[in-house]
Amino acid sequence: MLIDLEALVHNYRLLAERAGQSRIMAMVKSDGYGHGQVNVARALEQAGCALFGVAETAEGIALRDSGCTGEIFIFLGVDHRAIDYFFTAHLTPVVFTRADLKALSAGCKRHQRSIGIYLKFDCGMSRLGFKPSELDEIIGLCRGLHGIEVTGLMSHFPCADEPAAPSNTETYSCFSTMLNNSPQTSDLAGSLANSGGLIHQPRARFAMVRTGISLYGYHPAGSWSDQSEKLPLQPVLSFHSRILQLNCITAGTGVSYGHTFIAERDMTLGVLPVGYSDGYCRALSGKGAVIIKGQRAKICGRVCMNLCMVDVTDIADVQEGDPVVLLGSEKNETIDADEIGRLSNTISYEVLCAIGNNNQRMYR
Ligand SMILES: *Cc1c(COP(=O)(O)O)cnc(C)c1O
Repeated sequence: MLIDLEALVHNYRLLAERAGQSRIMAMVKSDGYGHGQVNVARALEQAGCALFGVAETAEGIALRDSGCTGEIFIFLGVDHRAIDYFFTAHLTPVVFTRADLKALSAGCKRHQRSIGIYLKFDCGMSRLGFKPSELDEIIGLCRGLHGIEVTGLMSHFPCADEPAAPSNTETYSCFSTMLNNSPQTSDLAGSLANSGGLIHQPRARFAMVRTGISLYGYHPAGSWSDQSEKLPLQPVLSFHSRILQLNCITAGTGVSYGHTFIAERDMTLGVLPVGYSDGYCRALSGKGAVIIKGQRAKICGRVCMNLCMVDVTDIADVQEGDPVVLLGSEKNETIDADEIGRLSNTISYEVLCAIGNNNQRMYR
């Protein structure tokens, strides 16, 4: 597996340009969507990015320990057993419960310092967050808690990748009302947009946009709608292997578990050392394809745990040991995470996490 950090930085620059005055927070949760959070953050930090988002405290600690000097946001609340790390590793909590506010305030007393926090509100996602109607009460609660300094407000779009969805306007209005219509919040930083929000909802950029999937080279919806201006993003991750063995079979022979594929002619199979334990999902059985010598070769039969078989009958001069592209480009052929996602009934995000987090990474 190859991670192209130049492509990552190229995407960052395109997105930063699109973001204008707002700052980019690079979402590097789930080990950088499978690309390796430490190397991703390091490359982006060199390119000028200073804000990073992860899900859990442990991810933030690992990122800080790697030498990251940017601001690191923890999105999934405050693990009360690990609260001291928010102070020692200088992590920024995104808070959505009163219990976390109180625990952080107790931490401020212990560490004799204050902490800047972001408050998360639910403006339509029905996931994490205080209710917008609780805004004044929560701000008041924070004022009374020792050491708690509210830096900003955050929320999240449920349908940002569908530009025409009516909920986009509702979420935007809900959030901008909270931010702009209260004297208590007028000096706070706002952050609402993910990649889809940045691409399709320019008015929703506020102080910070949180980009994940587009940094890694993909449109959040799996393709660009005809109306929107297409950003020339470059996929960052590619996945490579080699032919482990060539296997000639005669017409009528069954292939792999369950013999769901029966050869209709004499054929040559390439056996690849890649299976679902490598994140190459079993739903690709009989559907997926790979690239060998610039030509597509279809998956025959079921994907096994560590192996799969492809049809190389029509590929001239194919040999054991030949390189195979499972995700990426060779000559005029490309297989991207959107295609693999469509075939396996999921989205690029899940394909990248599955392949990226289950294979050895090499960086370019
Ligand atoms: C993951 C995440 C993002 C990034 O979303 P993309 O669609 O990958 O850009 C933004 N905000 C929050 C809260 C997230 O969890």
